[in-house]
Parts: sequence; C-alpha cells; structure tokens
Amino acid sequence: MPFKIFSYKDLFGSSMDEAIVKRPSKKVSSCSICGTFRRRALDVAALSMQSDILATAHNLDDHLQTFMINLFSGDVGRIGWMYPQPITYQNGLKKIKPLVELYENEIVFYAFHMGIEFQADECPYMNESIRSDFRVFFNDLEKIHPGIKYNCFNSMNKLSKIVKNSDNDKQIKNACLNCGGISTDEICSVCKTVLMLDMNKKKLPN
Ligand code: SF4
Ligand SMILES: [Zn+2]
Repeated sequence: MPFKIFSYKDLFGSSMDEAIVKRPSKKVSSCSICGTFRRRALDVAALSMQSDILATAHNLDDHLQTFMINLFSGDVGRIGWMYPQPITYQNGLKKIKPLVELYENEIVFYAFHMGIEFQADECPYMNESIRSDFRVFFNDLEKIHPGIKYNCFNSMNKLSKIVKNSDNDKQIKNACLNCGGISTDEICSVCKTVLMLDMNKKKLPN
C-alpha cells in the first residue's frame, strides 16, 4: 500500500495543539478530541484509497484499557462494539484488529528482533487520560500474576459478546445529518467536536 499522511489540521481545521488551546476546559480531554478525529481520519484515509478493509494495530493491552475506560465511564454499549470480530459499517468499510490477541510488549520485542522501525515517542498528552492509569494497573498486576491480562481479555470477550447481542448495539449504522459520516446520533461526534472548537475559538483573544 502507498504510504500517505493525513493531518487533523487539513481534515478538521485544527491541529491537536490548536484543539487543546480551543477546547472550552480540561474536562474535554485531549484523548476524547484525538480519538474522535483519529477514527474519522482513518475512515477518510481508507476510503480515499478505495480500501474495503481497515486494519488497525490495537493490541491486547489497548483493548483491556478501552474496556476499563468504557466500564468506568458507564459506556456499556461501547463494550459491545469491542467484540473482536470484523465490523462492516454503513460506508462499506470493514474494520479488523489482527493484533488484538498479542501483548504490547510481545509486538515490541518482535519489531526489535525483526528490525522493524516503529514510532516510540510518547504522546505529550497521554498522562491526561485515565488510559495511562489502567496501563500501569494492568502492567503491575501482570508482574505479580503472569497471564492475568489474557484471562481478563477472555472475560472481556464473553461480556462484550453478551452486550453486542443485546439492544445496546442497535444504533451503530446511523449516518450524520451534517457530514454523512458514521454516527450513533443525528449529528456525529466529529461535527460536534469541530463546532465546539470553533465556538470556543471566537472567545479567545486574537
Ligand atoms: S494519548 Fe495522545 S495520541 Fe493517544 S488518544 Fe490521547 S491525545 Fe491521542
Ligand atoms: Zn458529522
């Protein structure tokens, strides 16, 4: 596949640094803005290349952290979306996570061993998110109880399958009335985020 770079600035009018300045308060976390933009940017990138499958590199650690974030924020419906099987969205794009059963450190060891280059710089905003706390929590647990992450992953899959088969999974196929993108609401989270940043920008001094 050709290597292409897409930017938040080009797609949504704000770089991540600009979005941080424009956000109304720290209650809107960097990661919630970034996650919303990133999911859409990946869709745009995949569709621009006429792809019908989008493979992301989520690993087992990412998945456990997301599960805990959804659980602790009361977002039970999203737990159903996490069930690791290909999902086809209304834009025809199928999303897969081929590395989801592998620990993050196994992937890093493999990349070192095979001489595969990877981006290892930490995001400057990562400590704003509760995700970092869950990363430390699971890594500490795994040191004392080897294999516990994998056990938790199996339990999470069983739970997410139950939620997926329940009513909570019903709205994933909506299209945003403003941009036509994937949405669980009439207006998608991307449009809401762009509007929020634009509105707050007007309050900032020039
Ligand atoms: S840690 Fe950084 S890259 Fe990851 S979602 Fe948060 S802001 Fe985005
Ligand atoms: Zn939209």
